[in-house]
Amino acid sequence: MNDIFSDRIKNVPKSFIREILKVIDDPEIISFAGGLPNKDLFPVEEIRKAADYQFDNFGKEVLQYSTTEGYLPLRQYIADRFNKRNNLNISVDEVLITHGSQQALDLIGKIFLNDEDCIVIEEPGYLGAIQCLSVFSKNFKTIKLNDDGLNLEELEKILEKYSPKLLYVVPNFQNPSGITYTNQNREEIANILKRYNTYLIEDDPYGELRFEGEQANTFKKLLPEKSIILGSFSKIVAPGFRLGWVIAPKEVMSNLVIAKQAADLHSNYVGQRIIYQFLKDNELDKHISKIKERYGSQKRAMIESIKKHFPKNIKYTNPEGGMFLWVTLPNNYSAMELFEKTIKAKVAFVPGDPFYVNKTNVNTLRINYSCSDEQTIEEGIKRLASCIKELVV
Ligand code: PMP
Repeated sequence: MNDIFSDRIKNVPKSFIREILKVIDDPEIISFAGGLPNKDLFPVEEIRKAADYQFDNFGKEVLQYSTTEGYLPLRQYIADRFNKRNNLNISVDEVLITHGSQQALDLIGKIFLNDEDCIVIEEPGYLGAIQCLSVFSKNFKTIKLNDDGLNLEELEKILEKYSPKLLYVVPNFQNPSGITYTNQNREEIANILKRYNTYLIEDDPYGELRFEGEQANTFKKLLPEKSIILGSFSKIVAPGFRLGWVIAPKEVMSNLVIAKQAADLHSNYVGQRIIYQFLKDNELDKHISKIKERYGSQKRAMIESIKKHFPKNIKYTNPEGGMFLWVTLPNNYSAMELFEKTIKAKVAFVPGDPFYVNKTNVNTLRINYSCSDEQTIEEGIKRLASCIKELVV
Protein backbone atom coordinates (compact mmCIF):
# COMPACT_ATOMS: atom_id res chain seq x y z
CA MET A 1 0.00 0.00 0.00
CA ASN A 2 3.01 2.20 0.58
CA ASP A 3 3.50 2.27 -3.19
CA ILE A 4 0.73 4.81 -3.45
CA PHE A 5 3.20 7.50 -2.37
CA SER A 6 5.76 8.96 -4.76
CA ASP A 7 9.44 8.02 -4.78
CA ARG A 8 10.00 11.74 -4.51
CA ILE A 9 8.61 11.94 -0.99
CA LYS A 10 9.87 8.53 0.19
CA ASN A 11 13.43 9.68 -0.20
CA VAL A 12 13.13 12.96 1.66
CA PRO A 13 14.67 12.94 5.15
CA LYS A 14 12.40 13.79 8.10
CA SER A 15 13.13 17.03 9.93
CA PHE A 16 15.44 15.72 12.61
CA ILE A 17 15.14 18.88 14.68
CA ARG A 18 11.39 18.57 14.91
CA GLU A 19 11.91 14.99 16.15
CA ILE A 20 14.43 16.20 18.73
CA LEU A 21 12.15 18.96 19.91
CA LYS A 22 9.64 16.27 20.85
CA VAL A 23 12.20 14.53 23.10
CA ILE A 24 13.01 17.72 24.92
CA ASP A 25 9.45 18.77 25.60
CA ASP A 26 10.20 19.03 29.33
CA PRO A 27 10.22 22.46 31.00
CA GLU A 28 13.19 21.49 33.18
CA ILE A 29 15.42 20.98 30.19
CA ILE A 30 17.62 23.89 29.21
CA SER A 31 17.39 23.82 25.45
CA PHE A 32 20.06 25.12 23.14
CA ALA A 33 18.55 22.92 20.43
CA GLY A 34 15.93 25.17 18.86
CA GLY A 35 16.57 27.52 16.00
CA LEU A 36 13.98 30.09 16.91
CA PRO A 37 14.31 33.84 17.13
CA ASN A 38 13.71 35.20 20.64
CA LYS A 39 9.97 35.79 20.94
CA ASP A 40 10.42 38.49 23.60
CA LEU A 41 11.72 40.72 20.82
CA PHE A 42 8.70 40.38 18.51
CA PRO A 43 7.17 43.84 17.95
CA VAL A 44 3.67 42.70 18.87
CA GLU A 45 2.10 46.10 19.58
CA GLU A 46 3.56 47.75 16.49
CA ILE A 47 2.30 44.92 14.32
CA ARG A 48 -1.13 45.09 15.91
CA LYS A 49 -1.26 48.81 15.06
CA ALA A 50 -0.12 48.15 11.49
CA ALA A 51 -2.82 45.50 11.06
CA ASP A 52 -5.50 47.81 12.46
CA TYR A 53 -4.42 50.57 10.12
CA GLN A 54 -4.61 48.31 7.08
CA PHE A 55 -8.03 46.91 8.00
CA ASP A 56 -9.43 50.31 8.98
CA ASN A 57 -8.35 51.95 5.76
CA PHE A 58 -8.06 49.24 3.09
CA GLY A 59 -9.98 46.25 4.48
CA LYS A 60 -11.62 45.11 1.26
CA GLU A 61 -8.49 45.51 -0.83
CA VAL A 62 -6.29 43.73 1.70
CA LEU A 63 -8.52 40.65 1.64
CA GLN A 64 -8.48 40.34 -2.16
CA TYR A 65 -6.22 38.20 -4.42
CA SER A 66 -3.05 39.93 -5.52
CA THR A 67 -0.10 39.70 -7.93
CA THR A 68 2.30 36.74 -8.04
CA GLU A 69 5.43 38.90 -7.70
CA GLY A 70 4.19 40.41 -4.44
CA TYR A 71 2.94 43.77 -3.11
CA LEU A 72 4.82 46.39 -5.10
CA PRO A 73 5.60 48.84 -2.25
CA LEU A 74 6.98 45.94 -0.18
CA ARG A 75 9.18 44.80 -3.09
CA GLN A 76 10.36 48.38 -3.51
CA TYR A 77 11.20 48.58 0.22
CA ILE A 78 13.24 45.38 -0.07
CA ALA A 79 15.08 46.59 -3.19
CA ASP A 80 15.84 49.99 -1.61
CA ARG A 81 17.11 48.45 1.63
CA PHE A 82 19.27 45.93 -0.21
CA ASN A 83 20.71 48.67 -2.46
CA LYS A 84 21.47 50.92 0.49
CA ARG A 85 23.16 48.22 2.54
CA ASN A 86 25.25 46.97 -0.36
CA ASN A 87 25.70 50.08 -2.46
CA LEU A 88 24.02 48.42 -5.43
CA ASN A 89 21.30 49.33 -7.85
CA ILE A 90 18.96 46.38 -8.33
CA SER A 91 15.48 47.12 -9.65
CA VAL A 92 12.17 46.14 -8.13
CA ASP A 93 11.65 43.70 -11.03
CA GLU A 94 14.44 41.58 -9.59
CA VAL A 95 12.50 41.00 -6.33
CA LEU A 96 9.92 38.27 -5.80
CA ILE A 97 8.08 37.90 -2.47
CA THR A 98 7.97 34.29 -1.26
CA HIS A 99 6.40 32.34 1.57
CA GLY A 100 9.57 32.50 3.66
CA SER A 101 12.96 31.79 2.16
CA GLN A 102 12.15 28.12 2.52
CA GLN A 103 9.67 28.50 -0.36
CA ALA A 104 12.34 30.23 -2.41
CA LEU A 105 14.45 27.08 -2.09
CA ASP A 106 11.52 24.96 -3.25
CA LEU A 107 10.90 27.17 -6.29
CA ILE A 108 14.60 27.15 -7.16
CA GLY A 109 14.62 23.36 -6.96
CA LYS A 110 11.64 23.22 -9.29
CA ILE A 111 13.06 25.49 -11.96
CA PHE A 112 16.63 24.14 -12.04
CA LEU A 113 16.77 20.51 -11.04
CA ASN A 114 16.09 17.35 -12.97
CA ASP A 115 16.36 14.01 -11.15
CA GLU A 116 20.09 13.46 -11.17
CA ASP A 117 21.32 17.04 -11.39
CA CYS A 118 24.17 17.91 -9.09
CA ILE A 119 23.75 20.38 -6.21
CA VAL A 120 26.71 21.55 -4.14
CA ILE A 121 26.27 22.50 -0.49
CA GLU A 122 28.47 23.31 2.48
CA GLU A 123 29.57 20.68 4.98
CA PRO A 124 28.06 21.11 7.48
CA GLY A 125 25.03 22.54 5.67
CA TYR A 126 21.59 23.97 6.45
CA LEU A 127 19.36 20.95 6.97
CA GLY A 128 16.25 22.75 5.66
CA ALA A 129 18.00 23.19 2.32
CA ILE A 130 19.14 19.55 2.30
CA GLN A 131 15.56 18.46 2.98
CA CYS A 132 13.96 20.83 0.48
CA LEU A 133 16.33 20.24 -2.42
CA SER A 134 16.38 16.48 -1.92
CA VAL A 135 12.76 16.46 -3.16
CA PHE A 136 14.24 17.20 -6.61
CA SER A 137 17.58 15.43 -6.69
CA LYS A 138 19.65 13.19 -4.45
CA ASN A 139 22.86 14.13 -6.14
CA PHE A 140 24.48 16.30 -3.46
CA LYS A 141 28.18 17.05 -3.35
CA THR A 142 29.57 18.75 -0.27
CA ILE A 143 32.42 21.16 0.30
CA LYS A 144 34.10 21.45 3.64
CA LEU A 145 33.57 24.73 5.44
CA ASN A 146 36.76 26.28 6.82
CA ASP A 147 36.94 29.15 9.30
CA ASP A 148 37.19 31.65 6.43
CA GLY A 149 34.56 30.06 4.14
CA LEU A 150 34.55 27.37 1.45
CA ASN A 151 37.52 25.14 0.75
CA LEU A 152 38.44 26.48 -2.70
CA GLU A 153 40.37 23.46 -3.92
CA GLU A 154 37.40 21.22 -3.27
CA LEU A 155 35.13 23.73 -4.98
CA GLU A 156 37.22 23.80 -8.12
CA LYS A 157 37.46 19.99 -8.24
CA ILE A 158 33.72 19.53 -7.84
CA LEU A 159 32.86 22.14 -10.45
CA GLU A 160 35.27 20.54 -12.89
CA LYS A 161 34.15 16.97 -12.28
CA TYR A 162 30.38 17.18 -11.76
CA SER A 163 29.19 20.38 -13.53
CA PRO A 164 26.70 21.19 -10.79
CA LYS A 165 23.77 23.46 -11.61
CA LEU A 166 23.65 25.05 -8.16
CA LEU A 167 26.01 25.98 -5.36
CA TYR A 168 24.06 26.73 -2.16
CA VAL A 169 25.81 28.79 0.54
CA VAL A 170 24.97 30.68 3.74
CA PRO A 171 27.94 33.06 3.86
CA ASN A 172 26.84 35.11 6.89
CA PHE A 173 26.70 33.43 10.33
CA GLN A 174 25.99 30.12 8.71
CA ASN A 175 23.40 27.73 10.07
CA PRO A 176 24.66 25.52 11.71
CA SER A 177 28.28 26.62 12.19
CA GLY A 178 28.06 30.39 12.79
CA ILE A 179 30.95 30.82 10.31
CA THR A 180 31.15 33.91 8.06
CA TYR A 181 33.03 33.86 4.76
CA THR A 182 35.80 36.46 4.49
CA ASN A 183 35.69 38.96 1.62
CA GLN A 184 38.71 37.26 0.10
CA ASN A 185 37.05 33.84 0.17
CA ARG A 186 33.93 35.33 -1.45
CA GLU A 187 35.98 36.99 -4.18
CA GLU A 188 37.83 33.78 -4.94
CA ILE A 189 34.59 31.79 -5.09
CA ALA A 190 33.11 34.37 -7.48
CA ASN A 191 36.22 34.29 -9.69
CA ILE A 192 36.13 30.52 -9.88
CA LEU A 193 32.39 30.44 -10.64
CA LYS A 194 32.81 32.88 -13.53
CA ARG A 195 34.37 30.01 -15.45
CA TYR A 196 31.52 27.55 -14.90
CA ASN A 197 27.85 27.28 -15.72
CA THR A 198 26.73 27.13 -12.10
CA TYR A 199 24.37 29.48 -10.26
CA LEU A 200 25.21 30.53 -6.71
CA ILE A 201 22.41 30.72 -4.13
CA GLU A 202 23.27 33.06 -1.26
CA ASP A 203 20.81 32.29 1.53
CA ASP A 204 21.04 35.24 3.92
CA PRO A 205 18.45 35.20 6.70
CA TYR A 206 20.98 36.30 9.35
CA GLY A 207 23.09 38.90 7.50
CA GLU A 208 21.48 41.87 9.25
CA LEU A 209 22.06 40.32 12.68
CA ARG A 210 25.73 41.26 12.86
CA PHE A 211 26.72 42.27 16.38
CA GLU A 212 30.51 42.32 15.84
CA GLY A 213 32.91 43.05 12.97
CA GLU A 214 32.28 44.52 9.52
CA GLN A 215 29.67 43.65 6.91
CA ALA A 216 31.10 41.56 4.06
CA ASN A 217 30.28 41.73 0.35
CA THR A 218 27.16 40.09 -1.01
CA PHE A 219 27.68 37.76 -3.97
CA LYS A 220 25.24 39.98 -5.86
CA LYS A 221 28.12 42.42 -6.05
CA LEU A 222 30.79 39.89 -6.95
CA LEU A 223 28.88 37.69 -9.37
CA PRO A 224 25.78 39.69 -10.36
CA GLU A 225 24.65 37.61 -13.33
CA LYS A 226 24.80 34.27 -11.58
CA SER A 227 23.79 34.99 -7.97
CA ILE A 228 20.39 34.36 -6.48
CA ILE A 229 19.94 36.04 -3.10
CA LEU A 230 17.41 34.79 -0.54
CA GLY A 231 16.19 37.07 2.23
CA SER A 232 13.63 36.77 5.00
CA PHE A 233 11.62 38.71 7.55
CA SER A 234 11.71 35.69 9.88
CA LYS A 235 14.76 36.70 11.93
CA ILE A 236 14.44 40.50 11.67
CA VAL A 237 10.67 40.85 12.27
CA ALA A 238 8.81 37.58 12.92
CA PRO A 239 8.73 34.12 11.29
CA GLY A 240 4.96 33.69 11.71
CA PHE A 241 4.35 35.92 8.69
CA ARG A 242 6.17 33.37 6.53
CA LEU A 243 7.46 36.15 4.32
CA GLY A 244 10.76 36.25 2.52
CA TRP A 245 12.10 37.22 -0.88
CA VAL A 246 14.35 36.25 -3.77
CA ILE A 247 16.56 38.63 -5.69
CA ALA A 248 17.38 37.02 -9.02
CA PRO A 249 18.56 37.92 -12.54
CA LYS A 250 15.87 38.33 -15.19
CA GLU A 251 15.95 34.89 -16.84
CA VAL A 252 15.81 33.18 -13.44
CA MET A 253 13.07 35.51 -12.23
CA SER A 254 10.71 34.78 -15.13
CA ASN A 255 10.93 31.05 -14.36
CA LEU A 256 10.52 31.63 -10.62
CA VAL A 257 7.34 33.60 -11.27
CA ILE A 258 5.88 30.72 -13.28
CA ALA A 259 6.80 28.24 -10.52
CA LYS A 260 5.30 30.56 -7.91
CA GLN A 261 2.03 30.87 -9.89
CA ALA A 262 1.84 27.11 -10.09
CA ALA A 263 2.60 26.68 -6.39
CA ASP A 264 0.31 29.19 -4.69
CA LEU A 265 -0.62 32.10 -7.02
CA HIS A 266 0.99 34.56 -4.59
CA SER A 267 2.20 34.89 -0.99
CA ASN A 268 -0.24 35.79 1.78
CA TYR A 269 -1.40 39.27 0.82
CA VAL A 270 -2.78 40.23 4.24
CA GLY A 271 0.63 39.54 5.78
CA GLN A 272 2.44 41.50 3.06
CA ARG A 273 0.26 44.55 3.65
CA ILE A 274 0.66 44.38 7.44
CA ILE A 275 4.40 43.93 7.34
CA TYR A 276 4.71 46.78 4.86
CA GLN A 277 2.71 49.07 7.16
CA PHE A 278 4.90 48.01 10.07
CA LEU A 279 8.04 48.87 8.08
CA LYS A 280 6.57 52.22 7.00
CA ASP A 281 5.61 53.29 10.52
CA ASN A 282 8.67 52.02 12.41
CA GLU A 283 12.41 52.19 11.97
CA LEU A 284 13.54 48.68 11.15
CA ASP A 285 17.15 49.57 11.97
CA LYS A 286 16.18 50.47 15.53
CA HIS A 287 14.28 47.22 15.94
CA ILE A 288 17.19 45.20 14.55
CA SER A 289 19.59 47.00 16.92
CA LYS A 290 17.64 45.62 19.86
CA ILE A 291 17.88 42.10 18.48
CA LYS A 292 21.60 42.45 17.86
CA GLU A 293 22.22 43.81 21.32
CA ARG A 294 20.42 40.87 22.93
CA TYR A 295 21.94 38.14 20.77
CA GLY A 296 25.38 39.73 21.04
CA SER A 297 25.40 39.75 24.82
CA GLN A 298 24.00 36.21 24.96
CA LYS A 299 26.67 35.00 22.57
CA ARG A 300 29.41 36.64 24.64
CA ALA A 301 27.99 35.06 27.80
CA MET A 302 28.03 31.69 26.09
CA ILE A 303 31.64 32.06 24.96
CA GLU A 304 32.66 33.10 28.48
CA SER A 305 30.92 30.06 30.00
CA ILE A 306 32.46 27.75 27.41
CA LYS A 307 35.94 29.14 28.15
CA LYS A 308 35.35 28.63 31.86
CA HIS A 309 33.86 25.13 31.82
CA PHE A 310 34.75 23.19 28.64
CA PRO A 311 37.89 21.02 28.53
CA LYS A 312 40.63 22.71 26.48
CA ASN A 313 40.58 20.14 23.68
CA ILE A 314 37.04 21.09 22.62
CA LYS A 315 36.89 23.43 19.63
CA TYR A 316 34.14 25.97 19.05
CA THR A 317 33.31 28.83 16.71
CA ASN A 318 32.86 32.40 17.92
CA PRO A 319 30.26 33.94 15.56
CA GLU A 320 30.05 37.66 14.80
CA GLY A 321 26.29 37.49 14.35
CA GLY A 322 23.30 35.20 13.94
CA MET A 323 22.02 32.64 16.41
CA PHE A 324 24.30 29.57 16.51
CA LEU A 325 27.71 28.36 17.43
CA TRP A 326 29.32 25.07 16.55
CA VAL A 327 31.27 22.75 18.80
CA THR A 328 33.72 20.07 17.66
CA LEU A 329 34.60 17.19 20.00
CA PRO A 330 37.89 15.34 19.52
CA ASN A 331 37.90 12.81 16.65
CA ASN A 332 35.96 9.59 17.16
CA TYR A 333 33.57 10.98 19.75
CA SER A 334 29.90 11.01 18.86
CA ALA A 335 27.70 14.04 19.54
CA MET A 336 24.69 11.72 19.43
CA GLU A 337 26.13 9.74 22.33
CA LEU A 338 26.75 13.00 24.15
CA PHE A 339 23.13 13.99 23.52
CA GLU A 340 21.88 10.85 25.29
CA LYS A 341 23.91 11.86 28.34
CA THR A 342 22.97 15.52 28.32
CA ILE A 343 19.24 14.82 28.10
CA LYS A 344 19.56 13.04 31.45
CA ALA A 345 21.43 16.09 32.78
CA LYS A 346 18.59 18.22 31.38
CA VAL A 347 20.36 20.19 28.72
CA ALA A 348 19.86 19.83 24.96
CA PHE A 349 21.58 20.78 21.70
CA VAL A 350 21.41 19.49 18.14
CA PRO A 351 23.90 16.71 17.33
CA GLY A 352 25.63 17.48 14.02
CA ASP A 353 24.34 14.46 12.05
CA PRO A 354 21.40 16.09 10.20
CA PHE A 355 23.70 18.80 8.82
CA TYR A 356 25.68 16.23 6.82
CA VAL A 357 24.45 14.48 3.71
CA ASN A 358 26.02 11.08 4.20
CA LYS A 359 27.55 10.93 7.63
CA THR A 360 26.34 9.73 11.00
CA ASN A 361 27.71 9.77 14.51
CA VAL A 362 29.71 12.88 13.79
CA ASN A 363 31.70 14.69 16.49
CA THR A 364 30.07 18.10 16.00
CA LEU A 365 27.07 19.84 17.54
CA ARG A 366 25.02 23.02 17.12
CA ILE A 367 24.23 25.28 20.03
CA ASN A 368 21.68 28.10 19.89
CA TYR A 369 22.06 31.20 22.06
CA SER A 370 19.21 33.43 20.84
CA CYS A 371 16.57 32.18 23.25
CA SER A 372 18.34 31.80 26.63
CA ASP A 373 19.28 34.52 29.09
CA GLU A 374 22.78 34.80 30.55
CA GLN A 375 22.04 32.87 33.74
CA THR A 376 20.44 30.01 31.86
CA ILE A 377 23.38 29.96 29.46
CA GLU A 378 25.88 29.66 32.33
CA GLU A 379 23.92 26.82 33.97
CA GLY A 380 23.32 25.00 30.65
CA ILE A 381 26.94 25.21 29.54
CA LYS A 382 28.08 24.00 32.97
CA ARG A 383 25.84 20.92 32.66
CA LEU A 384 26.97 20.35 29.09
CA ALA A 385 30.61 20.65 30.11
CA SER A 386 30.32 18.03 32.82
CA CYS A 387 28.73 15.58 30.34
CA ILE A 388 31.54 16.29 27.88
CA LYS A 389 34.08 15.59 30.61
CA GLU A 390 32.41 12.26 31.37
CA LEU A 391 32.47 11.25 27.70
CA VAL A 392 35.75 12.67 26.48
CA VAL A 393 38.82 11.55 28.38
N1 PMP B 1 17.71 29.39 5.45
C1 PMP B 1 18.41 29.29 6.59
C2 PMP B 1 19.88 29.22 6.55
C3 PMP B 1 17.72 29.23 7.81
O1 PMP B 1 18.41 29.11 8.95
C4 PMP B 1 16.30 29.31 7.82
C5 PMP B 1 15.50 29.27 9.08
N2 PMP B 1 15.93 28.42 10.06
C6 PMP B 1 15.64 29.41 6.59
C7 PMP B 1 16.38 29.46 5.43
C8 PMP B 1 14.15 29.45 6.50
O2 PMP B 1 13.69 30.73 6.77
P1 PMP B 1 12.22 31.23 6.48
O3 PMP B 1 11.55 31.37 7.80
O4 PMP B 1 12.41 32.57 5.81
O5 PMP B 1 11.53 30.26 5.59
